[in-house]
Amino acid sequence: MIQLPTSPLQRIEDPILKDFSINLFIKRDDLIHPEITGNKWRKLKYNLIEAREKGYDSIMTFGGAFSNHIYATSAAGKEFGFKTTGIIRGEELTPLSNEILMFSKINGMDLIFLPRLNYGFKDKITRQYKDDFYVIPEGGSNNLAIKGVVEMMDEIYDEILPDYICVAAGTGGTLAGIVSGLRGETEAIGFAVLKDKGLMWNFVTKLLTNDNEFDINNDYIFNNYGKTTPELIEFIMEFEKRNPSIKLEQVYTGKMMFGVYDMIQKGKFKENSNVIVIHTGGLRGRMKELGEIF
Ligand SMILES: *Cc1c(COP(=O)(O)O)cnc(C)c1O
Repeated sequence: MIQLPTSPLQRIEDPILKDFSINLFIKRDDLIHPEITGNKWRKLKYNLIEAREKGYDSIMTFGGAFSNHIYATSAAGKEFGFKTTGIIRGEELTPLSNEILMFSKINGMDLIFLPRLNYGFKDKITRQYKDDFYVIPEGGSNNLAIKGVVEMMDEIYDEILPDYICVAAGTGGTLAGIVSGLRGETEAIGFAVLKDKGLMWNFVTKLLTNDNEFDINNDYIFNNYGKTTPELIEFIMEFEKRNPSIKLEQVYTGKMMFGVYDMIQKGKFKENSNVIVIHTGGLRGRMKELGEIF
């Protein structure tokens, strides 16, 4: 059966927040599985079930050289018995120069490097291989991904009535799932890690299963995707010192958490509200300067 445990909702009891009347909780999707972490499991789950039901034993997907989706797909293949192929954007790096690709390969994934992977090319590859492979789009964001993220939302609503749900947004697929699963007055805020807000807006809108509203915040990009500043790194280190059970990384969750803390301190959330942040995992991409956790 294709299933992993659900994740806990944890209250963040941070001393520096005690003067602000905000109840901050974190949905620990990073704890679902050591490798198939966070939102990547949520987005893969129903794709894997569909692949199994349709009788596929191989999965193909796409990503950049630092893609957590590639890594999670390789681990899911190992866990649930699928062969996996990852089409990686860029020149082949020998030896594999980063841990994401190295661990994907150790998990048994075939890696194919394509220097210039444009969308037309991806469509062509998808058509060519669709009889032999269950093809998942880059980032894993499709309609079945939305279904998996909505399930996470249902888990949250089983425990609490959130006023805000905050999530880091790359492609926006996870945000689209969150918005699709919103109930009542809950507001969804995506913290963008890429500059192009318009692109994400369109992507989210295309995937939505309803016309719920959402907000994309791009005040906490820290120059660009994958870039950091000393201020961000210091924030993450100090956060982890005060909240030792939670680890962050600098590409997604660190930036989102920085943004949430900044907004709390600037009074951007309603008083006494329940603010939920989603820990989307990705800790394999944590930089060494933040300290080893594996
Ligand atoms: C991929 C990823 C995201 C972004 O998810 P999207 O659905 O592409 O917006 C956020 N956080 C982490 C840790 C990720 O690996």
